Amino acid sequence: MAIERDVLDVDVLIVGAGPAGLACAYHLTKKAEEKGLEPPAVLVIEKGSFPGAHSFSGAVMNPSGIASLMPDFLEKKMPFEAMVLEDSLWFMTQASHYKLPFTPPGMGNEGNYIISLNKFTRWLAEQTEALGVDVYPETAACELIVEDGKTVGIQTVDMGLDKEGNQKSNFEPGTIIKASVTILAEGTHGSLTKQTKDKLAIFNESINQSYLTGVKEIWELPDGRLKEGEVIHTFGAPLPTYEYGGGFIYSMAGNMAAIGYAVGLNSPDPTNDAHRRFQEYKAHPSIRPILEGGTMLHYGAKTIPEGGYYSMPRLYDNSLLIIGDSAGFLNSQKLKGIHLAIQSGIMAAETIFEAIEKEDFSSATLKSMQNRFEASTAKEELFKVRNYHQGFEGGIFGGMIHSGFQLLSGGRGLFDKKDPGPDSKHMMKWSEFFKGGRTPKPQLKYDNKFLFDKLTDVYKSGAKHEEEQPSHLVISDFDICNNRCTVEYGNPCQYFCPAQVYEMVDNEDGTGKHLQLTPSNCVHCKTCDIADPYQVINWVVPEGGGGPNYENC
Ligand code: SF4
Repeated sequence: MAIERDVLDVDVLIVGAGPAGLACAYHLTKKAEEKGLEPPAVLVIEKGSFPGAHSFSGAVMNPSGIASLMPDFLEKKMPFEAMVLEDSLWFMTQASHYKLPFTPPGMGNEGNYIISLNKFTRWLAEQTEALGVDVYPETAACELIVEDGKTVGIQTVDMGLDKEGNQKSNFEPGTIIKASVTILAEGTHGSLTKQTKDKLAIFNESINQSYLTGVKEIWELPDGRLKEGEVIHTFGAPLPTYEYGGGFIYSMAGNMAAIGYAVGLNSPDPTNDAHRRFQEYKAHPSIRPILEGGTMLHYGAKTIPEGGYYSMPRLYDNSLLIIGDSAGFLNSQKLKGIHLAIQSGIMAAETIFEAIEKEDFSSATLKSMQNRFEASTAKEELFKVRNYHQGFEGGIFGGMIHSGFQLLSGGRGLFDKKDPGPDSKHMMKWSEFFKGGRTPKPQLKYDNKFLFDKLTDVYKSGAKHEEEQPSHLVISDFDICNNRCTVEYGNPCQYFCPAQVYEMVDNEDGTGKHLQLTPSNCVHCKTCDIADPYQVINWVVPEGGGGPNYENC
């Protein structure tokens, strides 16, 4: 029997209360207010338990975005940890490091702010709500509703189902929210954004998106360990030369520090594991002394859309706009996207304002989003590094040489619009990768004082889910996992998930192993959905409010 659902109508629906979505809501409402017009009914929905609960980033922020949105952001007490006062880039060898005597062009952080994205997002939500915008946390959108080629809204996930999908006594059917225009601001690899690939044609001209998985811990350090406003980026060890990524250490207020590591998901290694690389990084002789005697307080992980300008979708469709990380607004050379996410939110707000005035939300009007972007400083910035990530396909040194050519050629480098294919296709089979003397790495020894196992780190992410609900990791074919993948790839999900959701456990009859899931550990990074070599894992939204509860991240 069809479930009867409540239907809510709003003018503008924004999916995701991150910097992009909130900037859009803020600018649109403020603009209407400044023009003396009745503001449109804007609703921002957020799957986390509060705005910012799932916001996670490095994060050194270029303030240009927030300054455009809210010129008085300092008077409004935007939370930040420090201004960047010292900025260095280290090349790591196995035993030591060399500090580069200069920061390569385009990579400096002068004038930038070290922030906690989670605190920043919470603050931006408060500013937005103060304008009268409704921001609903614990509201997870599970389906993009498209009728006759036009987006009409979304449906929120059903609450109160048991593991088998049966209704419990507290069952509440998901609501249909209809809007004149729906804005996808879900962050990296959003589930509705994924649905647009089947339902709409906005990604048809784009090359494949490329991702990194970034993991980070927040530490409290002994006095004087880092200088105020100190930012260190590193490349080289412990990463092998065929993998892309690097590490960072940022000084935060109150003797706190963010330390993290990001690794490309286009690695050929079926045991590629960003969490493990991060632990190896902390054990490096140049990094360990910084952390020695400190205490780890928080943990988080996310994927980072690195593919650049050519992997971005068309930013509009009938009654739909897409912004922020969902659309790949990220400078791949600097690994910075917060300012671009905010700028994309402002451009979306300007576009919606025009559509409201014309009373037309069709592609013909919303196309001006694309025109705004193409004429913007955001486009200029992204176009200059449009082939950056793809240059590293041959390894770190080839990539560095390519980035030099890119600098000289205004962003082109030695090729243009090269599609690297999906990240998952770069993984080599176990027997191909582990040959010629190459062997899997031995188990790392965790002391849980300095090097933490995944479960201890997950605990520090505050991740919580209702246990009695259908798994939000939907495996379309367990037989592939338990048999074919075991033989061909050695079950890479055990490695690439930074939250130990996937484990191969012994069968009761002693005849081998099977895949066991612990979805309640999930920190919503989306790595599994991207990196699975068979693409049998589909990450769908769990009940609203589930997931990490980031603090200071
Ligand atoms: Fe990330 Fe998937 Fe693991 Fe969740 S289950 S933490 S989305 S890799």
